Order: sequence, then C-alpha cells, then structure tokens
Amino acid sequence: MHASENSHDDFLFIDDSDEDEILEGGSGDTWQVLIVDDDPEIHSVTQLALSDLVVLGRKLEYVHAYSGQDACKLIVENPDIVLVLLDVVMETDDAGLTVVKYIREALNRQDIRIVLRTGQPGYAPEESVIKEYDINDYKTKTELTRRKLVTTVYAAIRAYQQISSVSESRQGLEKIVSGSSTLLELHSIAQYSQGTLKQLVQLLAQDIGGLFCARGQGIIEDADDLSFYIIAQQAMSSQLVNQKLDTLQNEEISKQVKACFTQKTHQYFDDSLYLYLARGGYRAVVYLNLSEALSDIQKQLLEVFLTGIAIGYENVHLFQKLNNAAYKDWLTNLPNRLAFVRLLDNFVKSDNESEVAALIDLNHFSDVNDALGQDVGNKLLAAVAKRLQSLSCHCKVARVGADVFGIIGAESCVTPETLMTFFELPFTAGEQKLLINACFGFCRKEHANTSGVKVLNQINIALNLAKKKRIEHFAYYNSEMEDETQWRLNMIRALRSDFADDRLELWYQPQLSLVSGKVIGAEALLRWRTADGGFISPSVFIPLAEYSGLIIEIGDWVINQACSQIKVLEQHSFDNITISVNVSIPQFRLGNFVDTVLTAINSHKVPAEKLELEITENILMDDPQVVIDALVRLKEHNISIALDDFGTGFSSMSYLQKLPLDRLKVDRAFITDIAKENQSVLAETIIDLGQKMNLKVIAEGVEELEQQTRLRELGCDEVQGFYYAKPMPQDEFLDFLRSNN
Ligand code: C2E
Ligand code: CA
Ligand code: CA
Repeated sequence: MHASENSHDDFLFIDDSDEDEILEGGSGDTWQVLIVDDDPEIHSVTQLALSDLVVLGRKLEYVHAYSGQDACKLIVENPDIVLVLLDVVMETDDAGLTVVKYIREALNRQDIRIVLRTGQPGYAPEESVIKEYDINDYKTKTELTRRKLVTTVYAAIRAYQQISSVSESRQGLEKIVSGSSTLLELHSIAQYSQGTLKQLVQLLAQDIGGLFCARGQGIIEDADDLSFYIIAQQAMSSQLVNQKLDTLQNEEISKQVKACFTQKTHQYFDDSLYLYLARGGYRAVVYLNLSEALSDIQKQLLEVFLTGIAIGYENVHLFQKLNNAAYKDWLTNLPNRLAFVRLLDNFVKSDNESEVAALIDLNHFSDVNDALGQDVGNKLLAAVAKRLQSLSCHCKVARVGADVFGIIGAESCVTPETLMTFFELPFTAGEQKLLINACFGFCRKEHANTSGVKVLNQINIALNLAKKKRIEHFAYYNSEMEDETQWRLNMIRALRSDFADDRLELWYQPQLSLVSGKVIGAEALLRWRTADGGFISPSVFIPLAEYSGLIIEIGDWVINQACSQIKVLEQHSFDNITISVNVSIPQFRLGNFVDTVLTAINSHKVPAEKLELEITENILMDDPQVVIDALVRLKEHNISIALDDFGTGFSSMSYLQKLPLDRLKVDRAFITDIAKENQSVLAETIIDLGQKMNLKVIAEGVEELEQQTRLRELGCDEVQGFYYAKPMPQDEFLDFLRSNN
C-alpha cells in the first residue's frame, strides 16, 4: 500500500507556476510548517517546491515528522507551527487522522491549519471528518503540482493569520471588557488613570512604561493653571505623580503630549504612543513607550479600548463632582459632615493611638448672621476654616455643621490650648474684624467607639458638656458622660410614660401686690412626683422635655390645666387672679402655638387677660421675629405677657422694645442680696427700666422681710417667693387664697 501511494509522486511539483506576485519580500520572521510523511522524499520535494515562497512577508521554516506519533510530539514541542502538511496513510491507514484529532481535541489547537495529502483518492477521509476537524484542504498527491501546493499553503497560512488575529482581537476585547469593568470600580481620578495605564500595558502585552497626563486644574489640588500634570505613571517614577509634565525634563515627551492635545489625535511612533482621550470636556493624553511597534490590529484594539477609557474618564470626573457635592462643604471647601464621619471611620481603624478628634462650636454665630448679615457670616466661617487649616501638624479639618468644625490630629497638636489660641485674635470677615469664641469637645483615640458615627456622637456629648461649663469651654469625652446620656434617655422615657399616665401635676406659687399685700396671681409650676413620693425638679426635667420635644405636649397640657384653674378660681369668686404659665422655646418653633393658646382659652371659656405667658429673653435668640409676631398676635387677644428671669439673658434692648410686654420679672439673682448695703444697684436699675417702659415689675425669690422692705423702697410693684408661699397643689392654693384675701 505504501508503494502504491508513492507511485504517483512523479506528478508532484511539476513547476507550472510563474505567479511571482505571491513571492513577496520577506522579513526576519518565518512561518513554521510541519511536514508529516513517512516518505523522506516527499519532505525534500515539498521543501524544494516551496523554497522561495514568502507569505505575508515571511518565509517558511520546516519541521519534519515521519510518523503520526512523531508529528504529535513535534507539535507539542513547537507551539509556533502554523501549518501541517499531513500524509493520511502512514504507520496505520488513518495515522494522519489520529494526528488531526490529537491537534484539535487533545491539544485544543483550533488555529493550526491542516492540509491532508494522500496518495490515492480512495483514501480520502469522510467529508464529515474534514468539516468536524476543520481541515483546510484535502488533496490527493496527484493534484499537488507546485503551483497548487503554493496556492494551498498560501491560503492556509493566510487563514491561520486571520484566525489568530481574530483570536487576538477576541482576547484583546476580553481584556478591554474586563479591563473596563475593573476601571469602572475606580472612582478617583488618580486611581482611574493609574488603572488605565495598567490595563493598556496588559492589552498591548508589552513591557512598557507610560504616563497619564492632563491639565492640573480641577484635578491636582491647588493647581489652577493650565499646565500639564502627570496624573499617573507606569514603570517610570512614582515621584512624577502630581508633578508638572515639565519636571520630567524630556522635551520630546512634553512636545508630543502638547501636540496630541492641540491636534486632538493619537500620535503613533515606532517606539512610543501618545493617545488622546476626550469626552464631555474632559481631556487627557496617555504616553506609552513601546518595546516594539504596534500592529494594525493592536492599534485598532487600542482605539476601541480608548473610547471606553474616555467614557470612563468623563464618568470619573462626574463622579468626583458628585462626590464633591456629597462630601465637600461648598463654602469653605472643607470636607463636610458626611466626609468627617468617613474620616472618623479611618480614625477609629488607624493604628495611631496618639490621635484625637474634636468638634469646635462657634459661640453666638447666629448673632453675627443676624446683626451683620449672612455675607459677613459666611466670610467669618471661611476665615475660621482657613485659620484652623493652618495647624502645623497634618490634621484634617472639616465643617460639620453651620457653625461647627471638626478636626482630627495628633493629641500633642489638637489640644484645648492650641484651639483656643485660634480664637484669641479677631477674624477678618470682609470689612469687619470680628472676635468670636468657641466651645470644644474632644474624644481621644483610646476612648473612641467602633464607628465614625458613634465617635461623632461621643464628641458631641463632650461638646454639649463643654457648652454648659462656665469657665473652661472644653471637655474630653469619657464613658461616664455616656452614662449621663443613658441617664437622660431613661429620664426622658420615664417622663414620657408618666406624662402619658397623667402623673404630672401643676402647682401654684402665689404672687402678691406689694401695695395691697393681696394675692394678685400665681405662677403655675410643673411637679413630677416619683414612685417613692419624692419630686424631680423641673430644672432637671424641663430641659429634658425641651430636648426631646416632649415639652410641646406637656406645655399644651399646662396651658389647658392653667385655664381650667382660672375657671375654678372664678367659680370660687376669686376674680382678679392671673395665672402665669412658663413657655419654652420649642413651643414657639411650632407654627401653631398662638392657635393652641387661643383654643385653650376658648374651650375653657376664660377671659384672655387672666392667662399670662412667661417667656425668657433666650427665647428671642433663635428667631426673634417669629416670636415677636406670635406674641403680638397673642397680645391682640389680650393675653398678658411677662419677661421672666430678666437680666440674665443676652437679648438686645432693640428686640426687647419690640416685645408687647406687661410685666418684668426680676430674677432671684438680683434679689438675694438686695437688703445688703450697696447690693441693690442692679435691681434698682431693672425696676427703674421697667417703670420707664411702663411695665409692672415683679420680684422673684423673695425669702426675707428685709428684701421686701427694700423692694418697696425701690418701687417694685409685686413679689413672689418663699417668704410668702412655696409652690403648692391646686387645693392648697384655694385654701391660701381663702385665708389671704
Ligand atoms: P422659674 O420660671 O424661674 O420659676 C421659679 C422657680 O423659682 C421655681 O422653681 C420656684 O419654685 C422657685 N422659687 C420661687 N420662689 C423661690 C424662693 O423664694 N427661693 C428659691 N430658692 N426659689 C424660689 P421650680 O418650680 O423648681 O421651677 C424651676 C424652673 O422650671 C422654672 O423656673 C421654669 O423655668 C421651669 N418650669 C417649671 N414649670 C414649668 C412649665 O410648666 N413649663 C416650662 N416651660 N417651664 C417650667
Ligand atoms: Ca417662671
Ligand atoms: Ca423666673
């Protein structure tokens, strides 16, 4: 059989070719062709026939196998073989087909081209085999003239080239897809540009270095010129990052990057590339130095990749903008509250145990806003921000609230003393020089909780405590404070439930005329009786009720209770008794306070002038106009209004004059020492002021006869205090009235 196969060899390779157009100029590279035949002569004839053939710029190089088994081994050893010219019948009838199966199935090499050759048509493999194993050509050896062989080989190698470039593109595309999705996760511009360089290196599968360049403005902190900066580098020097491109001192690169920008096109060179990225106004140039020139396919792939990169580059800018909007304070350009919480998260996680986090709360900032306008207020905040940032250590500063700043830094640097010195000199806000002070809350690393939000809460606890302090305006968080918070929460819970169970009482403290000595009214004061029969002081639970908002419901109840007391007094023919009710700030903040009061009066059918509201000066600090408007409306309905604790607040005279007042209550602090020599000046001034403003003046906290005497001398109208009576329950108050009037 072997003999007959070879008997047609004479027909082989008759030179019928003069098609020199396929003999192109060669390059250094070759195509490896495996000739498999058990007849050595076929090897030499084949080689001879193909001797000057150049396919797609490359010559052929031969590997020889003389059996199917040999062939299999050689294919494994020579991965660059692109074409196998394969004899079908060798050691067995189908040794060639075994090789085919081995290539396609065992090695899973779909790219290698296979041309089957057989001596006789009778040994042609089934058509299904040709299809299944992707055999390029099947030729009987008689058909293989030189011309036909050249054509067949030429076509096969071209097919190989296409297949491998398709697979290269596919792999490239896979890289693009996976590369792009990796990049999508990078949200910072720096990370993104770094990632882009990495992906490019992978995509081009070359050992290359590169730079990612863009104009610094908006990307590099503090860069507001239009110079080119290096945003990221690959295999160059990390010191280049965030530097101007010119610091590289490479004129060629600087020149080409600029050219790329101005010409808005990629610049390809054999040893380097300048890729132009542009989308939505975001532009960048990627420089790469190449170890070998790019093929057309690589260029095409690159361009596909770059479209995606440009989209991503725009996105990352947009993301940055969103991020800025979400995490930056627009006024001071500092991190905002959200960002501060993140910084605190890092503070918690860091190994640095000697760090401290703090809050700085400006005192009376709203006064500046009210008095000098928001513009000056904003400038003041910006000035404070700037001064805080001048701390020499690497601390992080944020604006956490309207007038609250956050700071994280070394314990040795962020101290009450250093922070306080910041507020010793006035701040320049526009034309104004303003002196402002602040309170500070601190939390040391060792006390810090497990998350940023919790730490913020801890510093807040310390800050709130600092605000209440009279001398030192700072506090370091400790766990006892938390106990206090817990205590407060428990108290609020208990107050809420006791109020719901109707366990609060309203007591009355008589107020008397200094002229007639008769009771003219009473101040209604809340009492909270505990289970063991004791009382919790209103000075303790009223602030909690205010803090928790409970005061709104409780205050409503108090007003109704007071109205029903007025009714009871009327029924007992005590006609000229006014009941005063204390009102807290949160009650005013709720828009319907006036209606609440009017409804109470109407539903109890009591004369409005018998209800008096006691407000403190502090009530004006929040939103003076709202309070003034409400009081004016109440006054229009004849409700009486008293200014409580007068002399202890901060309000300006101009506001006080706008209040529709009936009475001034002189605070106990001015009364205590009034009988002592030269100690009555302030009381005198206040009483005098009240008279000038045409108001009744009542003195609070009168405990002694001497005080009463002095008050009478000063022309005070009315009195209230333990000297006359302590606050008492409703029934006792009726008894008191009976015995007094
Ligand atoms: P305040 O409005 O200044 O009430 C007067 C406080 O002084 C009352 O304390 C009263 O018992 C006390 N007092 C009266 N005469 C004397 C005296 O001669 N000597 C001394 N040492 N104290 C005297 P109380 O009842 O403990 O109330 C404390 C504060 O709680 C009140 O101060 C008021 O601000 C608030 N409060 C009480 N009830 C209510 C209420 O119904 N609503 C609101 N919003 N606050 C209330
Ligand atoms: Ca009062
Ligand atoms: Ca008072």
